Amino acid sequence: MTISTITILEWSIKLVMDKRKERGRQWGFSRGRDLTGMRFGYLIVKGRSQNLDQDGRTLWICECRCGKIVEHISDVLLKKNTTSCGCKWQENAARNHKILKNKYTMNGVRVDSLTRKTPKNNTTGFKGVSLTVRRGKEKFRAYIEIKGKRMELGLFDNLRDAVKARKEAEEKYHKPYIDAWKEKKFSE
Ligand SMILES: [Zn+2]
Repeated sequence: MTISTITILEWSIKLVMDKRKERGRQWGFSRGRDLTGMRFGYLIVKGRSQNLDQDGRTLWICECRCGKIVEHISDVLLKKNTTSCGCKWQENAARNHKILKNKYTMNGVRVDSLTRKTPKNNTTGFKGVSLTVRRGKEKFRAYIEIKGKRMELGLFDNLRDAVKARKEAEEKYHKPYIDAWKEKKFSE
C-alpha cells in the first residue's frame, strides 16, 4: 500500500465518521425533548450533560436512587432499557441468589452441590476419589465433603474399593439431606 492510498483511506474513514456524527447530532436534537426532572425507574434526570455520546447524541445526567450519577441518551431512558445505574440489576441478582439458596438448602446443606457432576479436574472420573502416590505406589484416596468440611475415608489399593467407600459415605452423610429436601419439595 502506498502512502497516498493510506491517506485516501484515512480521509474516507474520517468523512464517514463525520457524517455519522452529524447524523447523530441531528437525530439527537430532533429528539431533543428536555427530559430534566423526569423519572425513569430509579433514575431522575438532573439535566443535559456537556458531553455527547460517540455518535454525537445528547447525554442526560441522571441521579440514581442509590446516589450514583450516570449519563444516558434519551432513547435509552425513553425505551426503558435502563431504569437504574445498575444497582437494580444487582439487587435482583442478589434476591435471585437468595431464593435459589433457600430453595436448595436443607438443614444448612446445599443439596444441589451434593448432586453436582464430577468436576473436570477429577483424576479418576469418580467424585470424591483421587489418585495419589504414596511411597512410590499409586493409591486411591476417598473423601467426602459435608457442610464445607472434608472428611477422609481412607487410602485404597484399588479404585473399586475407594469408590465403594465413597458411595457408602454418600448414603450415610448426603442421602439424608437429599431425601429430606425431596420430601420438603413434594410437600410444598
Ligand atoms: Zn443505583
